[in-house]
Parts: sequence; structure tokens; C-alpha cells
Amino acid sequence: MRYWIETLGCPKNHVDSEKLAGLLVAQGYAPATRAEDAELVVANTCAFIEAAREESIETVLDLADRKLRDARLVVTGCMAERYGDELAEALPEVDLVAGFNQSLFAPVTKVTLRTKAPAFDLLNLPRPKSSAPWAYVKIAEGCDRRCGFCAIPTFRGDQRSRSTDEIVGEARALVEGGVREIVLIAQDLASWGHDRRRAGRGEALEVLDAGGTQPLIELTRALTREVDRVRLLYLYPSGLTQGLIDAILETQVPYFDLSLQHASRPLLRAMRRWGDADRFLERIATIRDASPDATFRSSFILGYPGETEDDQRELLDFLEAAQLDWAGFFTFSSEVGTPAHDATDQVPHELALERLREVTELQDAISARRRDALVGSTQTLLVDAPGVARSVRECPEIDGVVLVDPSLSVGSMVEGRIVASRGTDLEAVVA
Ligand code: SF4
Repeated sequence: MRYWIETLGCPKNHVDSEKLAGLLVAQGYAPATRAEDAELVVANTCAFIEAAREESIETVLDLADRKLRDARLVVTGCMAERYGDELAEALPEVDLVAGFNQSLFAPVTKVTLRTKAPAFDLLNLPRPKSSAPWAYVKIAEGCDRRCGFCAIPTFRGDQRSRSTDEIVGEARALVEGGVREIVLIAQDLASWGHDRRRAGRGEALEVLDAGGTQPLIELTRALTREVDRVRLLYLYPSGLTQGLIDAILETQVPYFDLSLQHASRPLLRAMRRWGDADRFLERIATIRDASPDATFRSSFILGYPGETEDDQRELLDFLEAAQLDWAGFFTFSSEVGTPAHDATDQVPHELALERLREVTELQDAISARRRDALVGSTQTLLVDAPGVARSVRECPEIDGVVLVDPSLSVGSMVEGRIVASRGTDLEAVVA
């Protein structure tokens, strides 16, 4: 029996798919080379925003067209969890809509949605050998925060952190399989371990945000001893304590993925989030003082309810001052069940798009200048695939890449001199 898994959405979903694949292999399935040949076809969907949901539906319909007539088509992931009953109703082509707490092998049925945190947890399942010299490692599931625009906690539940031993064990197995870089992911990475500590000591999230002994610091140090590169994604800005900054700099991957969402203080408060432009700039300056070559990435929402022209100006000023290397911009997507959904001061979508175009134009020019400035420098490159490598400045699958000689072995690390900049990508020759 062969399986095919089509994965939509974020890196967290890709890790879930790998773990599903590990589970299927353990049950005797083999991977198919295309959906058309598989007896079990799985769509691991994304429900983050409207555009992601549309893409997920289109993918399911496409798989339904392409699959063998008797193949079993299963829809799982965030959309299945969040809209299970509606999906099962709307997609008669699908054999099973499986929420996080359902096996893919449940009898053909309509889904029953869970009311509490998922019982069928993929976090600690084994995963197949990585085909690239890097791999995501998901260290927690769910989130204890309640940002005004985000529905994730409503269907992923509160944060549940894996133990240090489980995470280090997974990292070791990946390293034994040839992985040289691990990319840590979670909904709110900087709060990793808080739920475990809270269970033991009753500490509040704010204690972590104020610094203290943040569990992620020790985990980062433990992983640094196991693997050449450790990269941390999705850092809520108040969780970026001095101790964590120091631990990240010790990894030799001075890459800071700050989940900022905006720069205007009133708008961030409306989003129920911490921070403002001054605080963000102060942290970025602290990091650059310690590590002038540090790389910064962030993402921002345009058109959140109540956003004004002053907020937009503040974001533009912030981007100019922060000189981030990479940034992603998204228009606000109104999600049922979130505070922002019922806000009366919605921003017209056209205006949000206009603002998005404005910030994108500014940031593209900044990113291009920062890439151009690397020409002539020497970078340590990890070869991901023939002809494609990355320095510590590029996160896999998200940022640009460094183009290299295709004869360099995949998985090797080489010193490369950057000889050209081509949009987001660079070109290097072995130094
Ligand atoms: S921290 Fe991230 S996952 Fe958690 S509620 Fe906020 S946006 Fe959603």
C-alpha cells in the first residue's frame, strides 16, 4: 500500500506531515511518487487565513480528481480541526475529515470535533530520515496567548511543550541521519516550557516575559551541543530576553525571527500584543551592538481593525529605522471566534492592500540593499541541494538562497565568497 501526503501552510504543518509519514511507514505503507499512484491520499490543510483555506479546498478537489478511483482521500490539519463538520458536508469526494484527535484509519464517517486539546498528538511520533541537511523540530503545540486576530488557540489549544529529552532525542536522530541544521518551531517559541513549569510552580506567562530563567535558554544551549546550526523561529518580542539573545548568539546562527505584527503601540494594544516601535528598535540595536552581522526577519499585518494613517506612517518609519533583512506582510483576515472579527472599525480590504503595497515597496528596497551589501563577503554555506546553499542569514524555505557550484556535495559546509546579488538570492564561489 502506498500513501501520498499533500501539505499546505506553515512549517509546523510540514513537521506534522513528516510525523504522519513516519506513522504510515511504521504501519507498512510506502511513499508513492505521485498522488495518482497512492491508495491513501492525505491533504494536510491550513486554516490560517481566508487565502490559505481557499488553497486548501482547491488542493483537496484537485487530489480528488487525480487519485485512483478506490483510493481513500483524507483531509486533516487545521482546516479539518476547525471546520470539520462543514467540510465533511461540503466535500462528498472526501472519505474522512480527521481532526487532530482522529486516526486516518477511522471508518468513513463525518468528523466529530473535539472540545479540548487534541488527544491524538503528533508531537512525539518518530519521523522519517530527512532528505535535506536541515529539518524543522516542533518543540510545542498550541499557544497560551490570545492575540486579537488569531484563531490558532481555539483549535490548537493551549501550549503543550515537549520535554527537553524528547526534543534532544529527536535532534540526535536527525543528526545521525545527516542533518546539520535544525530549525525550532512552535506557535510561541520563546514561551516553550512555560506550561511544564506552570504545572509545577504556578508561574504566570508575564514572569517569563520579564526574563527570569527562561526554559528555552537551556534548551537552545543543549541543542547547540548536538548540531552545527540551531535556528529559532517565531519569537514573540517580549520573550526575547537578554538571556535568550545571548543563547542565540552562542548558537553561531545570529538570526532573529521576531514576530512583531506592527509597530504602532495603540494598534498593538488593540491586537492584544506587547511592544511598540521604540522597544523593538531598542532590542534590535542591543543585538546589533553584540553582533553587527545579525539577521532580522519579521512579519506584519496590514489593515487590522482601527488601523489609521498615523499607524501606517509609524510602521513605515519603523521599517526604515529597523533595516530588517527580511519581512513578510499580510492583509488582515477576519477570523470567526477572534475579538477582531466583531470589531466595528474594520478597514476596507482595498485600503489594506494599498498599505501592504506601500510597505512592501519600502521593504523590498531595504532587503535588496542589505543583500547587495553582502557581495564581497565570505560566508559559511550549507549545501542544501545541488547548486543551492544557505548561510546563517537565510532560513530554509522562507528567505532567499545562495547559488553555488552544482558539483558541491549536498550536506557539506564550505566557505563561499559572495560574488553577486540577484534579487533575494546571492551567488558564491568557494573561497
Ligand atoms: S502568539 Fe501567535 S499563535 Fe499565539 S495567539 Fe498570538 S498570533 Fe496566535
